[in-house]
Amino acid sequence: MSYLALADADRVQEYVFGPSQLRYVRGASRLQTQAIERIESQFHSEVIFANGGLALAEFDTGPEAQRFCQASEEVFRTVTRSATISAAYVDQREDSFPTAWKRVRDAVERRKRQRNDLSVDGAHWLWSSCERCGLRPAQTLVPEAGNQVVSCCDACSSKWWKGEAGAHEVADFERLGQLGSPENYLALLYLDLDRMGEYLERNIANKEQCRTVSMAVDEALHGSVDCATMHVTRRGEELRVVKLLVGGDDAVVIMAADAAVPFLREFREEFVKPARWEGLEPPWFSAGIVYAHSHFPISEFMLVAKQCCREAKKLRGQHSASFRLITSSLAEEGDQADRHATACPYSLDVFLLFCDQILELKSKEAPRSKIHRLHEICQEDELPGTYEYLNLLLRLSPPVRSILRKRECVGPLLWQHLPGGRVTRGADLVELWEFVHDQ
Ligand SMILES: [Zn+2]
Repeated sequence: MSYLALADADRVQEYVFGPSQLRYVRGASRLQTQAIERIESQFHSEVIFANGGLALAEFDTGPEAQRFCQASEEVFRTVTRSATISAAYVDQREDSFPTAWKRVRDAVERRKRQRNDLSVDGAHWLWSSCERCGLRPAQTLVPEAGNQVVSCCDACSSKWWKGEAGAHEVADFERLGQLGSPENYLALLYLDLDRMGEYLERNIANKEQCRTVSMAVDEALHGSVDCATMHVTRRGEELRVVKLLVGGDDAVVIMAADAAVPFLREFREEFVKPARWEGLEPPWFSAGIVYAHSHFPISEFMLVAKQCCREAKKLRGQHSASFRLITSSLAEEGDQADRHATACPYSLDVFLLFCDQILELKSKEAPRSKIHRLHEICQEDELPGTYEYLNLLLRLSPPVRSILRKRECVGPLLWQHLPGGRVTRGADLVELWEFVHDQ
């Protein structure tokens, strides 16, 4: 085969997290998957892999590769009505597979940059714009829940029809919030594999390896998310996790708030199982966790989760995690940059151990009000804060005191001095307190 062709979905998150109600988001995610599957079935014998918004295929002739590119773009337009995919192909006769693969990725990148997305102006006097996205003209009526009918564009209406809840799936984010503790709180988890470019370069020398590695990564993500979902869901009840976007090299899932820690623990355990990797080293991943009220807009959830994930990625060569709690005052101010004292990012092992300590504290009946004092103490200067902390320790029962003093918990002093500067886990402990429970 002489030509390598790649199609890569554009602005996936923008498309999926468009209208923010769960039904639209779920529909968009399904449509996106359906589009990739359709490309795969149309070019079945030529496709090397197709998942996570990507399809790679090879052809004997240039015109065939060209047809793949055109068909991919066409399929995306028809299935999603608004999302696009960028495709390109290269002649690989002179190159090794890794070189050709790199060239075709570069070609797609160039195509994405060239693509001048003509944003449609929805505010034209001739038409009213879609009540959900506001981007395109409203063309059809959508019968939302509670007898509410809204005028939507074609794209939003397809998302809505596609997004109906299946068996054991919750209908909306409010319902998901009711399944957790504290009630009405959700946790969004953004799991992103680290340095995938390097990982793939290291592990892929030919087409077969490309297929194997890409499938192993995709299946490990899907399989681990599914196992973790079942792990935090009670038998026969509604699923406490919603897969928003899974595949390629990342996963976005949202869940009842108290499910986040056990989910993450189970996900990690599943993800690194050797049986999933056929002799490959599993890649490292970073987790961004955001806790907020179920009314907090999903696109904002995503923005903060990405920030957390970026923060977690600073820890290299290990699984890592960083979290954020959006309180109502923070959400109103829209001021996400101003963060309390925190020990984020954590190595994932350290984070999970820390959560175990919180469970220990609860089992020893540590008084909530005294624990909450830690939050204020962490805002003080180091010396007076430490003094207050030691004072607080004295006023707690010996078992509680000894847990707090452990290095895996807050430690003997309030602040720890690390090479990167001083950090404290005191405020983190208070923030996680409400979300960490015995299963
Ligand atoms: Zn719309």
